[in-house]
Amino acid sequence: MTERIRDFLRNRREDGRDDGPCLVVDLDVVRENYHGFANALPDSRVFYAVKANPAPELLALLASLGSCFDTASVTEIEMVLTAGATADRISFGNTIKKERDIARAHALGVRLFAVDCQAEIEKIARAAPGAKVFCRFLFDCAGAEWPLSRKFGCDPVMAVDVLEHAHRLGLEPVGVSFHVGSQQRRTQAWDEALKSAAAIFRGCAERGISLSMVNLGGGFPTKYLKDVPTVKSYGRSIFRALRKHFGNRIPDTIIEPGRGMVGNAGVIEAEVVLVSKKSEQDTARWVYLDIGKFGGLAETMDESIRYPIRTPRDGDAVAPCVLAGPTCDSADVMYEKVPCMLPVSLEIGDKVLIEGTGAYTATYSSVAFNGFEPLKAYHI
Ligand SMILES: *Cc1c(COP(=O)(O)O)cnc(C)c1O
Repeated sequence: MTERIRDFLRNRREDGRDDGPCLVVDLDVVRENYHGFANALPDSRVFYAVKANPAPELLALLASLGSCFDTASVTEIEMVLTAGATADRISFGNTIKKERDIARAHALGVRLFAVDCQAEIEKIARAAPGAKVFCRFLFDCAGAEWPLSRKFGCDPVMAVDVLEHAHRLGLEPVGVSFHVGSQQRRTQAWDEALKSAAAIFRGCAERGISLSMVNLGGGFPTKYLKDVPTVKSYGRSIFRALRKHFGNRIPDTIIEPGRGMVGNAGVIEAEVVLVSKKSEQDTARWVYLDIGKFGGLAETMDESIRYPIRTPRDGDAVAPCVLAGPTCDSADVMYEKVPCMLPVSLEIGDKVLIEGTGAYTATYSSVAFNGFEPLKAYHI
């Protein structure tokens, strides 16, 4: 929570515009985060993962600071170009692309593509001849609160074949990528992944292909309820791991922070719609907010991400509450297995603040499920 967000919300309330939940992102915090990454990993180029929050104001700010961008679709590429970045600062990092989208990205000037199999290489060779490619390898995301493990990447042994295939088809195989899992609280995770990366470099070298780049992915955390290591300690840990596995032939590196760049910059203000019990004996009360899984809090799925919740009655005695959203879908319950501790005095109509919500919220909100509008977002 920053002073600027507090002022914004106060004005919104005074103007009577506070009907429905809203996300407010403080761009000054994003600027600090960008500099934090640049300082902690001075030799890595930053490719902001656009999917975390693609708001035009935020993309424009990062473009002006010199950031590069990791995109997953032609629309994201166009948004980044509109925000003022040139195509040489964009990677098409999704390993699953239609051939016509590869062609459109290529026509827009994008020359760096992610792959994780030979069939994708063939599409790129046809639609973006001569482009640079990096191969994503599988990594076990132990320690991540929002794992991205099985869907993307191939076995490290297979990655060598994929990159050789790229070389054969006239593409430029530049390196490898991995993602340690989102909200990764173990700085050690990069060490394990870089061991595999170095093995792929050696495998390619044996076939006469010299790689030069490692994409270290995202995974840098936002502080929710539990403490997380500082970005500096991630930087130190990654640098040590690069030295250990690559000796004095350290490759070019890039990082793709999403959550770590914007998560702590945002706060959602929501309203208590109902407080009730299911029976007289019920120990936990049910607190229903005007935002839930379909309104932007999708990452509460399986209670993975646990957002800090502030109320105007903090300091009063607390008791366990099940926290749920407003829609008529029983999946729309955020925290039940591990209830939230909220003030007993909490009342219908109270405004609550859900912190650390700058990433993976606004674009996750549905268009109008049950007639609830998409989450309003302000980037100030
Ligand atoms: C989602 C994603 C990221 C960002 O991950 P965070 O954990 O939010 O930092 C980075 N790279 C790729 C390829 C992604 O898909």
